[in-house]
Amino acid sequence: MITKEKKPYALKQGMLENVMRQFDHAADHIGLNPNIRKILEITNNELVVHFPVKMDSGQVEVFTGYRVQHNNALGPYKGGLRYHPTVDIDAARALAMWMTWKTSLAGLPYGGAKGGIQLDPTKYSDAELERITRRFTYALGDNIGPELDIPAPDVNTNPQTMAWILDTYMSTKAPAERSTNLHVVTGKPIGAGGSQGRDRATGYGVFLNIKFWAEQKKYPLRGKSFILQGFGNVGYWAARFLEAEGARMVGVQDAYGSLYNPLGIPVEPLFEYAKANRNSILGYQEAQPVDSGAFFALDCDLCIPAALGNQITARNAADIKAALIAEGANGPTDVEAEKILLHRGIDIIPDILCNSGGVIGSYFEWLQNRNGEIWTLDEVMEKLEKKMKESFHRVVAFATEKQVDLRTAAFMIAIQRLEQTYLQRGIFP
Ligand code: GLU
Repeated sequence: MITKEKKPYALKQGMLENVMRQFDHAADHIGLNPNIRKILEITNNELVVHFPVKMDSGQVEVFTGYRVQHNNALGPYKGGLRYHPTVDIDAARALAMWMTWKTSLAGLPYGGAKGGIQLDPTKYSDAELERITRRFTYALGDNIGPELDIPAPDVNTNPQTMAWILDTYMSTKAPAERSTNLHVVTGKPIGAGGSQGRDRATGYGVFLNIKFWAEQKKYPLRGKSFILQGFGNVGYWAARFLEAEGARMVGVQDAYGSLYNPLGIPVEPLFEYAKANRNSILGYQEAQPVDSGAFFALDCDLCIPAALGNQITARNAADIKAALIAEGANGPTDVEAEKILLHRGIDIIPDILCNSGGVIGSYFEWLQNRNGEIWTLDEVMEKLEKKMKESFHRVVAFATEKQVDLRTAAFMIAIQRLEQTYLQRGIFP
């Protein structure tokens, strides 16, 4: 019996506490082998690097970067790099653990990792961000690699960031080896070895999960309203696909503020506006600004948190009007909020299922690079849809069979796959 006191991490309120509680709950349900539990509740490797970068002003600034590799029983470590002031060792641990469950649930040959740099990217020029990224890559050295640990975009990182990482990583290899390293990162621009469809994969996956849920509930999406927190890559694409299905975005929030229009906010014009407005939705004329503190209480049918962790908490869960929460972000709903929401009969499609289209898209990119193939957009989208559908229905069927909520079911499936791997393989030596 593992007691709370034996927990490897001193849990402070935050994402790490959440992921550990989610893990514990599911592990208890399956009666997880206690030895395997010890392995899975701790991360394999944790790298913290401090590195200097010359700023445009000529001054040198020292940055702190992280890469946490939680588990690689199923394959190379996989997961994004985020650039945000909230990045610290606990955040990287929590996010790395979610990646392990996500890749396991999706049936991919990957483990889980996450990392990033603690910074506010809006404070730096593009040239500075390039030098920061390249120097971080150099500091990570051979702790990442195409068959070892494969980063990807996450909050405030994008295909350009991945291209810089790839170029830096390749440049440190012998000339004959360079082109064999294309798959050291995924989410690259097409010209740098990226895959068709990776840009929209996460948002499309969020949309598909909502669609599958709606089909099952006989709940037509046409005419339904949704609110979206986060208007980055995930939120934008999810909103676009939902809008094309006949739903309307009535509320949207980004790091700068919140907008509301019960008649609907058109997605593409807002995207164009934000692009021209330093990536901020603030000031968009076709909607009214609303208090960000009251955002989750807005009237709507569907709610899509697609920004940061711990956004839906005991403070706002009781006010949510939506019938469904589809988690585009990692860890947006904390454990206390989830209890309130489930009690109120609100469904939650959990992050490790709902946003898994991203890492599945990454897997397709990695396979193409590794095999020297180039797939069409249609091929990628078709393969993605097939995988997402399988995952969704597996989780729903398991939840029904075991009489548990969707998150618990998703965690149970993911953990069981890892348990089986360890039991079959044994522990070295
Ligand atoms: N950052 C994304 C996630 O949290 C994608 C990870 C990847 O593609 O490796 O799932």
